[in-house]
Amino acid sequence: MRFVCNRCKREYSEEEAGWRCSCGGCLFAERQVHFTKEDIRTERPGMWRYDAAYPLKYEDIAVTYGEGLTPLVSCPSGPCRLRLKLDCLMPTGSFKDRGTVMVVNYLLKRGAARIVEDSSGNAGASVAGYCALGRIPCDIFVPAGNSRGKLTQIRAYGAHIHPITGSREDAARAAQEYAEGYAGHNWHPMFLEGTKSLAYELWEQNHFKAPENIVCVAGNGSQALGIFYGFQVLLENGQVERLPRLFVVQAENCSPIYREFMRAAGEAAAAKTVAEAGEAAAKTMAEGIALRSPNKGSEVVEAVQTTGGRVLAVSEEAIGQAVRELGKMGFYAEPTSAAAYAGLLELLRDRTLNEQSDVILMISGNGLKAGEEIGEVIG
Ligand SMILES: [Zn+2]
Repeated sequence: MRFVCNRCKREYSEEEAGWRCSCGGCLFAERQVHFTKEDIRTERPGMWRYDAAYPLKYEDIAVTYGEGLTPLVSCPSGPCRLRLKLDCLMPTGSFKDRGTVMVVNYLLKRGAARIVEDSSGNAGASVAGYCALGRIPCDIFVPAGNSRGKLTQIRAYGAHIHPITGSREDAARAAQEYAEGYAGHNWHPMFLEGTKSLAYELWEQNHFKAPENIVCVAGNGSQALGIFYGFQVLLENGQVERLPRLFVVQAENCSPIYREFMRAAGEAAAAKTVAEAGEAAAKTMAEGIALRSPNKGSEVVEAVQTTGGRVLAVSEEAIGQAVRELGKMGFYAEPTSAAAYAGLLELLRDRTLNEQSDVILMISGNGLKAGEEIGEVIG
């Protein structure tokens, strides 16, 4: 396995590579993957049945909940032929566990004595959970002003919390300088290696075919890119005939990937309006995707373009409505995840999709994590 920088294209061996390139760019793992239906080990728990496709094998995994293989559920009252992928049922309540299990076990294998992360949300909870399970010292750096509610799960797992005065970016910097073992989910190249498991599960659950349309949210795009790169592996290995069309949803109030997509599509005027309206405020109830400077935004845009999909931005009002409608259909999702459903409704309204469209909607985070916020939305 080698690591390649997305900015300067410099290559690193496993021994040389840290969590990012010396130029400040993001590292991506590059390796030859031979993976077919016959390689699936059905006797393994969860996502580990596909370990032929991973950089870590099941035998390498010291800390695992048996994560993955979450249900893909048909929604009879949906507005199209809709199925929901319930990654909200992962062990710590969000899809982040797919990336965390890969990063934490990779760092352990390389001798890390403690794990450091800088998220006060789902990724922080995920890292704290795995560290508690594996009895690994864990440090989570969070902006000091963050609401207490979001930290409850992290505290319950017993992580050492470092409040940092300043922004989300200041907290990240403090974590990166603190110790070896930085597991920053927005940076570490192993994270995406884990989220590729989503593609393999959806492929098997869709009877070993590529789904037609997948709708998901993106802050830094680790879910969208995991799906995209995973299906690329399946395409290269002759396991699917095409890629699923990928629709990526952001909140209007924080939508840098949407703007980059619109600029690339030559619709700068529309994108500019959103920039003016949103970026100053940058406050959205979809807090899990409120990232002002994503380091993989260009890769998300390219992935969406390659599949013939689109990046959308949805209003706070639409996200609130999505939370309410999902609930009435039987799905309790975090506002961040519900934004994906708001995007789907928009695609149906503008006739990009119709009632006959086959759609998989990603529910990436559990509503139980955001009871207070959802309470406000439903009144
Ligand atoms: Zn570089």
